[in-house]
Amino acid sequence: MSEKIFYNEKDELVVPDNPIICFIEGDGTGPDIWSASRRVFDAAIEKAYNGTKKIDWKQILAGEKAKEKTGNYLPEETIEAIKEHIVAIKGPLTTPIGGGIRSLNVTLRQRLDLFACVRPVRYFQGVPSPVKNPEKLNIVIFRENTEDVYAGIEWEAGTSDAKEIINFINDSFNKTLLIESGIGIKPMSEFCTRRLMRMAINYAIKNKRKSITIMHKGNIMKFTEGAFVKWAIKEAEENFRDVIIKESEIAEGKNPDGKIIIKDRLADSMFQQILLRPDEYDIIVTPNLNGDYLSDAAAAQVGGLGMAPGANIGKYALFEATHGTAPKYAGLDKVNPSSLILSGVMMFEFLSLNEAADLIIKSLEKTIQEKYVTYDLARQMQDAKEVKCSEFADRIIQNMV
Ligand code: NAP
Repeated sequence: MSEKIFYNEKDELVVPDNPIICFIEGDGTGPDIWSASRRVFDAAIEKAYNGTKKIDWKQILAGEKAKEKTGNYLPEETIEAIKEHIVAIKGPLTTPIGGGIRSLNVTLRQRLDLFACVRPVRYFQGVPSPVKNPEKLNIVIFRENTEDVYAGIEWEAGTSDAKEIINFINDSFNKTLLIESGIGIKPMSEFCTRRLMRMAINYAIKNKRKSITIMHKGNIMKFTEGAFVKWAIKEAEENFRDVIIKESEIAEGKNPDGKIIIKDRLADSMFQQILLRPDEYDIIVTPNLNGDYLSDAAAAQVGGLGMAPGANIGKYALFEATHGTAPKYAGLDKVNPSSLILSGVMMFEFLSLNEAADLIIKSLEKTIQEKYVTYDLARQMQDAKEVKCSEFADRIIQNMV
């Protein structure tokens, strides 16, 4: 009998053998990649646990399908269902033009307070990449998901509001901003920084990762990005002193007891570092805008967004393909489902279904090495066999041994 996932009194996630997991199919190519991914998920669970576990998938609506059926792009029942079942996975959603919703994805993150955008970036053998040693990059980016530019306020240059703000700043704080400037405010807080860092450290402990690098632009923006580093380190020192060590405390490169090393790097340098010394980085904790840039740049280094999974996590967790709806391919059974499949792998790891996650990773890697791939990878590989989205999923399932 299927049951809900829940938190026990110690705030630990309890996952029954037949957990109910919500899914949003997504718009455009969403149904293609969802049906392929779901078959892969079910086969992996069946195989990894000899039929003793099974997921009960519960469809919830968002995007165009929701609009068609309920008149609303993001029905209240969808938000409530995720709260009730804790974990959900989604395909890409079209951003509605007009209608008062900026982006369904951003709205979901805000409504559910999914404060961390988590993006693992690693290489899969055989995927075409623009760098010589893509396998050296294996990082997990924890990007703050609620503050910085996501909570930013802007005033357009030349408007009376912008002028009012500029006059107030110039008069009250003795500044000399040009009156015709556009203005933006970028808020960042200790509370939100520390909860993100806490999640990253707990992840590092659970997954035996070696270091956490705080990526910031604190040399220029001292009281936002600079404070971010200070607060993140404070969280590490106050709550995790016995498991962490700061880079500055390491004498002659020695790391006693294999503690998690806390590093900090300026954002501009970080972009060089992931290209030049990728194997020196592991977990990266960063404010919203830096994380936005870094996530896509790092994904490109290992073969692009088609292979990049993602999750938005707070008290609830929403796993998602990181690319968009690719509408021109909708219904053609053509696009690469790997981003959604790998988001499912992250979800299984989050639910401690590691055997199923490992099985998918191995068989996906094998399928790519066999050069049995969808068009996007086939066009960059020599002698590849181009297959449909569903055929790619079939082969992954066949390769599960
Ligand atoms: P997109 O849907 O990501 O598509 C851009 C291009 O990326 C596609 O034309 C295709 O390239 C490639 N691509 C995307 N997904 C692929 C896949 N699974 N397999 C292989 N190739 C893939 O970006 P967009 O056209 O800018 O956005 C379309 C809609 O998606 C918009 O409404 C946007 O708001 C929305 N969106 C949603 C999300 C989300 O839900 N998380 C994220 C981004 C965008 P080729 O043409 O070269 O084959």
